[in-house]
Amino acid sequence: MRRHLLAVALGLALFAAAVVSLPGIVDVVTGAPPGDAVLARPAGYLLLAPLSNTLDAMTFLSLDRALAFLVTWVLVLAVLGAIRRGTAWRRVVRAVLWALVPVVLAVAAVLMPRPVPRLAAAQPGASVLDFHAHTEASHDGRRGWSLERVAAWHARQGFQGAYITDHNRPFAGSNEAAIRLLPGAEFSVYRQHVVVLGAVAPFDLAPYSRDTPGMVELFAELHRQGAFAIASLPEYWRNHRADLDQFVAAGVDGFEILNCSPKALAFPSADRDDVIALARRHDLLVTGASDTHGWGRVTCVWNLTIAGTHGFASNHVVGRPLALQQGDLPAIDAAWSQLWLMFRTISWPERISWLTWIVLISIWRGPPRRKGRWPGFGILARSVGPRDTT
Ligand SMILES: [Zn+2]
Repeated sequence: MRRHLLAVALGLALFAAAVVSLPGIVDVVTGAPPGDAVLARPAGYLLLAPLSNTLDAMTFLSLDRALAFLVTWVLVLAVLGAIRRGTAWRRVVRAVLWALVPVVLAVAAVLMPRPVPRLAAAQPGASVLDFHAHTEASHDGRRGWSLERVAAWHARQGFQGAYITDHNRPFAGSNEAAIRLLPGAEFSVYRQHVVVLGAVAPFDLAPYSRDTPGMVELFAELHRQGAFAIASLPEYWRNHRADLDQFVAAGVDGFEILNCSPKALAFPSADRDDVIALARRHDLLVTGASDTHGWGRVTCVWNLTIAGTHGFASNHVVGRPLALQQGDLPAIDAAWSQLWLMFRTISWPERISWLTWIVLISIWRGPPRRKGRWPGFGILARSVGPRDTT
């Protein structure tokens, strides 16, 4: 029992989380599972569920929680590595190696190619869109993050179209990549980023960069050019919380209510509900934004846009509950609460994959062995292990 303490604890956590399980995706406005879409997990994703789920969970951390998650696990694993039996030198090496595990996982979450879940829309006439995505044309976009790569990233996750919204660089649209890349931009004006949906000619942003009354004039200019204006997160929530009625009066077309960038994930759900209520009252769009800059393999949000409609009802924002709760959870306990939330949002096929891995690893570690011998499966543990060197 003591040998398998970690395995037993993980198994119990999996079953306990299943009792209080959450859906893998929800309609962000209603909080209920969307009736018109499902999250499809490919076989490779399920096979590697412990890794897939952990890397997803690490991707959907707000900035503060990401730091707390990393620091806590580095410290905990370093201490656990250091207090285990062994010579002083072995303890130091073990502490360093174990402390590196969360760092390696964080790098993998950002860079490693892997199978990813995709949204499958069940409603005819609905398109799966992203309203906010960057390429290498943005100053903070990943180098080599070309239009082709951003389109392939979206296609893998079930998107049929994405607005390319590089910083202050209007994009004209393209049909040549894996999905339709729609025309857009993201303008930085007075303490606010405005996502532009539609083709616009470059123009001087200075008149919109002095104060709030000047800034909201941008919406009318965008309308003159036939484009829509969406207020981006986290800026309107951080800098303009008291100005949102001015945004509406000046003609803003909508608000982002979920944006996957680490700073924007800190948006608390009470504030999200206020913005949803405001948009509903004025029949404005609410949107979800991957805001991808080329780092990370998974989006936390999709949009189901219904053809032939407009305003509040024309777009369903579908998000991962892990991302939606970031603004409500304290940073201090991120190391545990993120994993607990991850366990609550996984499906039964993922749970079975976890349990299979736990059992396999326990069997591998299981047979009692002489000091200095390596573990192995069953009889192999004793017959072909390296020779005892002690
Ligand atoms: Zn952006």
